[in-house]
Amino acid sequence: MEKTDILETDSVSVNPVEAIKIQVEDDRTGMSLETLKRAFLDNLFYLQGIGQTEATLYDYYVALAYTVRDRLLHRFLKTLETYKKNQSKLVCYLSAEFLMGRHLGNNLINLGIYDKVRQTMEDLGIELDEILEQEPDPGLGNGGLGRLAACFLDSLASLEIPAIGYGIRYEFGIFHQKIQDGWQVEVPDNWLRFGNPWEIARPDDTVEIMLGGHTEFFHDERGYAKVVWIPDRTIIAIPHDTPVPGYNTNTVNPLRLWKAEASQDFDFDAFNAGHYDRAVAEKIDAETISKVLYPNDNTPAGRELRLAQQYFFVSASLQDLVRRHLQSNRSLDNFHEKFSIQLNDTHPAVAIAEFMRLLVDKYGYYWDTAWKITQKTFAYTNHTLMPEALERWSVSLFAKLLPRHLEIIYEINHRFLEDVRTWFPGDDELVSRLSLIEEGYHKQIRMAHLACVGSHAINGVAALHTELLKKDTLKDFAKLWPEKFYNKTNGVTPRRWILLSNPRLAKLIAEKIDNGWLKNLDELRKLEKFADDPDFCRRWREIKQENKRDLAAYILKHRGIEVDVNSLFDVQVKRIHEYKRQHLAVLHVISLYNHIKQNPNIDILPRTFIFGGKAAPGYFMAKLIIKLINSVAEVVNKDPDVRGRLKVVFLPNFSVSLGQRIYPAADLSEQISTAGKEASGTGNMKFAMNGALTIGTLDGANIEIRQEAGPENFFLFGLTAEQVYALKSDGYNPMHYYENNADLKAVIDRIANGYFSHGDRELFKPIVDSLLYEDQYMLLADYQAYIDCQEQVSQAYRDRENWTRMSILNAARMGKFSSDRTIWEYCKEIWDVKPVRIVLEPYHQPV
Ligand SMILES: *Cc1c(COP(=O)(O)O)cnc(C)c1O
Repeated sequence: MEKTDILETDSVSVNPVEAIKIQVEDDRTGMSLETLKRAFLDNLFYLQGIGQTEATLYDYYVALAYTVRDRLLHRFLKTLETYKKNQSKLVCYLSAEFLMGRHLGNNLINLGIYDKVRQTMEDLGIELDEILEQEPDPGLGNGGLGRLAACFLDSLASLEIPAIGYGIRYEFGIFHQKIQDGWQVEVPDNWLRFGNPWEIARPDDTVEIMLGGHTEFFHDERGYAKVVWIPDRTIIAIPHDTPVPGYNTNTVNPLRLWKAEASQDFDFDAFNAGHYDRAVAEKIDAETISKVLYPNDNTPAGRELRLAQQYFFVSASLQDLVRRHLQSNRSLDNFHEKFSIQLNDTHPAVAIAEFMRLLVDKYGYYWDTAWKITQKTFAYTNHTLMPEALERWSVSLFAKLLPRHLEIIYEINHRFLEDVRTWFPGDDELVSRLSLIEEGYHKQIRMAHLACVGSHAINGVAALHTELLKKDTLKDFAKLWPEKFYNKTNGVTPRRWILLSNPRLAKLIAEKIDNGWLKNLDELRKLEKFADDPDFCRRWREIKQENKRDLAAYILKHRGIEVDVNSLFDVQVKRIHEYKRQHLAVLHVISLYNHIKQNPNIDILPRTFIFGGKAAPGYFMAKLIIKLINSVAEVVNKDPDVRGRLKVVFLPNFSVSLGQRIYPAADLSEQISTAGKEASGTGNMKFAMNGALTIGTLDGANIEIRQEAGPENFFLFGLTAEQVYALKSDGYNPMHYYENNADLKAVIDRIANGYFSHGDRELFKPIVDSLLYEDQYMLLADYQAYIDCQEQVSQAYRDRENWTRMSILNAARMGKFSSDRTIWEYCKEIWDVKPVRIVLEPYHQPV
């Protein structure tokens, strides 16, 4: 399409009405090089208020971000308009966390203008990569669960599914991790300090949220018994929308995050009464609710503020949906036909009680009718098998913050348990196991049970996880409602995790099999036939080598450690948790080190061990594991006997943007959790897609990755979930392994003797004791199998040609792990939604 510059139209003589029309219709958000350059310079000047000579890299970033956002907006508005006009069924993804990663690069890719914008910037003498680095990484999540929500949003938009993500606009995301003297130090993540060009505040859609107070019983004018909730405070929720574009589609779905503020009335009353200070204090109090993300992963916080956060975003989101629905429907009778609400874990499970409150108290529905609508609307994704990680809220806390919801939960429970008693007369044990309330000195609400009874679908996130859910964690519910259970094995988006993070590999793939794989990852199978093509293998290897060089440069810059790019990059990056067993990998490092110390001339495969991950600030053992990694690194890296053959690196502040550097540079992916503990894992998928081989246990999605890659292309070790269970019930004795394995004993003794702690035998005693006297996660039982398997890895890596072949086959066979496949399954089996094509006016089509 021909572009007319706005300046040029000014110079032609046209009547004023015509001129406005031309300006409106003129392609000022066009995608041509010239238009992009012009828009960028305009934004730099008019939004950042600075000229090109004075501008900083950050100014460039903001100007470019707005340039890109402008190009999303008409797609965004058209998408919303189309959904409304078509009355399309909408997927609502409720999640307390969205770990989105940086937007700019991804949006350029999804809009199809990455190369063009890089060229545009180059013409202006600016390096695009440097600009991308300016964006603060929005860390509104802890790890896998929050990142899954982000991959799902990308896939929903890419598959043209009408969808909205709802969450919290935390002012402070996951803390920034620094390492000082080997210890983790947490620094607040003030990511909004310089503004956020991606979000659009929508104050018109503000809603009120009630908290605290008490309930009153009364009879309405028709004589029906009713309850009214008299809260003791009200705050407001202001939505901020971030547009989420699909890859190569016109769909741009909203991510709607809520910010908490004090309601104006409240301010005003106190202010008028002469309590200016109190008015301000209340304002601060209200804003606390969306202030900070709880940095716990797989352990519930149990704090009042956390419950307030959960209720806050759930209530705001449901009110938002009800308002949308009533704009074009006479009642809420058919709500479930227009919305499917997915609960990402139990964090938003209070939605079930809140929706019942809205239907019964506010809109006057009979309980039974309301309950049917509720059950048809909600679906629940479970993310953990570990009983200690299942959310429970104390009844007394609930009573204080959400008195009406507590009554509703009791009523749900009463009716549910009545049903159970009729279905299974006399089975009181079953009744107490199923109850939403855990009896005891401190009564607690079991949020997973609330989510199960209030949903029509319950799913696990990998085949093994779903099986164990049905057999163990939720077995009583599976017995009641086998038809409610589904498996939805997780996936990740290949746009961010291959194309954006590994452009070299993406280019090679595209050269061989074109670009279809980005929308249909199964097409990667076409690469299998190149696994024996020497030229392709050479290029595959070179790309890994270049990625490793990039990471080595980053390591040198940030840690001052020189690593050998010809060594095997052995990588474990993920949250630090005992069940993930970073300390098992440390035992392997020490074992190799011991062998070198015994025989400095031993022929050993050079390895670089790269660790990364955050520990919850209150998780003592996890923080001590970080200290252990850094202490071992300090000794190993400078020991002359090692002669550089082993290097240990802890990269601080593992995040989405750091992941994008690390996954493509890994040779070996460590997925070594105790079998039965990792629900799925998604890091395992990102590694394999980028050509790393996996050493792993039969846990989570590892099992399916191995199945797809072929067992001969996967390094398997360790007990199965069943064996773990059996060994535990037989009475597991870790000391037995220590006493009967000289190598293991030497490794543990090195730690216990203070070798890595300047002679301090106390420092790592908690780790040593936990391994010798309890070993909940069975490191010692798996130790020898792990060491042996790592020896096989070393042997395999020495045959570089065969390693490359295995690497290619791994990547080629990861099609299943695209989040597009996962989302497609949710659409068909749980949500019953179909794609909706967004059609743009011709002048908005990309050139
Ligand atoms: C993918 C990802 C995770 C999840 O990693 P697992 O290995 O599956 O635990 C955690 N954090 C970030 C930043 C990620 O990108």
